[in-house]
Amino acid sequence: MNSMKAIFYLKVLENKLYVKGQIPYINGDKQPQIIVGKNVNIHSISINGNSNFVSNVSTENDYFIVYTNNEYEEEGVIEIEYDTNIVGENNIISDELIAISLYSNPFPIKLETYIDGSLCYLEEGFENYDVMNSYIDEETGLVVKETCSKTETANIIAYKKGKYKSFEYGKFKVFYRTESAYDTFYKIACLGDAALKFFNQIYQEKNDDMEIYELGLGYPAAYNRGNIVVYGADPNEFKFPIQVPEDFPLVENDFKEYLIQAIVHEIGHKWFIGADIFSYEDWLNETGAEWSNLLYLLAEDNKELFDKIIKYHEYQNKMCNEPIKPSDNHKPNAVHSSGVILFYKIYQKYGKDMIIKMLKLLSEMELKTTDKFIELIRTDINSDIADFMLEEICRVV
Ligand SMILES: [Zn+2]
Repeated sequence: MNSMKAIFYLKVLENKLYVKGQIPYINGDKQPQIIVGKNVNIHSISINGNSNFVSNVSTENDYFIVYTNNEYEEEGVIEIEYDTNIVGENNIISDELIAISLYSNPFPIKLETYIDGSLCYLEEGFENYDVMNSYIDEETGLVVKETCSKTETANIIAYKKGKYKSFEYGKFKVFYRTESAYDTFYKIACLGDAALKFFNQIYQEKNDDMEIYELGLGYPAAYNRGNIVVYGADPNEFKFPIQVPEDFPLVENDFKEYLIQAIVHEIGHKWFIGADIFSYEDWLNETGAEWSNLLYLLAEDNKELFDKIIKYHEYQNKMCNEPIKPSDNHKPNAVHSSGVILFYKIYQKYGKDMIIKMLKLLSEMELKTTDKFIELIRTDINSDIADFMLEEICRVV
């Protein structure tokens, strides 16, 4: 095998993405396997000509389908061809832009750890766009978008040619499409830069340059991929849906403020990523990022927004009514809130410095799992907290 990178040839035709993938496989503890979203329409899948793959819904997350070849055991290349609609928050194919991230279904997910990132050759449908962070391949003349060794960094942002602007603030470069979004994104970049400085004081230093993309379409929430944060629409333009539950704890302006503040959470993910995002273990990533946001608010003496965010998570957690670790290990809907509430209980009893200690420990864990985290809290911090977490994790917090 020449390269341990996965190769994807991509075409965009009539709002659909067509993918031809070549994904290296080496014999290890797993049979040849590819996981894709359930919207994916497979044309063919084989490894070295053997196409006996069986499909099963993922036990961890029923959005995903797992294709496994139970016969083939040697090394080779899995070849897959499929088309897919682009679905999921802030995944868009339009005349104005193409934005595709990995959390929905466009790429096979969870590539094996021996695969060192991927190369996406943009074959067709991208001609009228500027593809961010891309280059032209000398051999084929095609635009190539390279993704990092961590597969979760795969995303493609392509603005219609020349139809975007940018500015820089501190460590941040901001790309935006909507003229009126400048003010909000200037504020977001300032906030992001201040948060980055704060986190560099409490966690291990990570001072890489950051990029923020405003899509000008979609949902005003943000997602993070390594050093990139992608926002859908301008959070300041956010409007509540017509029907908001009567007991929803935030008013529209609170929610706007929270969406802007989301940049701090997203930067928190620089330290809090690495737990399996497709299973309940994702609560570690989300609790780490959100409590980083909450610690920043405490450092800024912004108790008002801090309290509102806690109320919001209490509400979400109550609505979902699921434990952090459900008995069948599936990924619960409360993954963004339940752990935040668990940490809030610890914060109320032991204070801010204890939360910082726990987060530092979590941020420095290479492979983040709940069991290992609690074990480390027991040996390195406080066994009462470890016992408390063990109790709380399997029941509704
Ligand atoms: Zn998050």
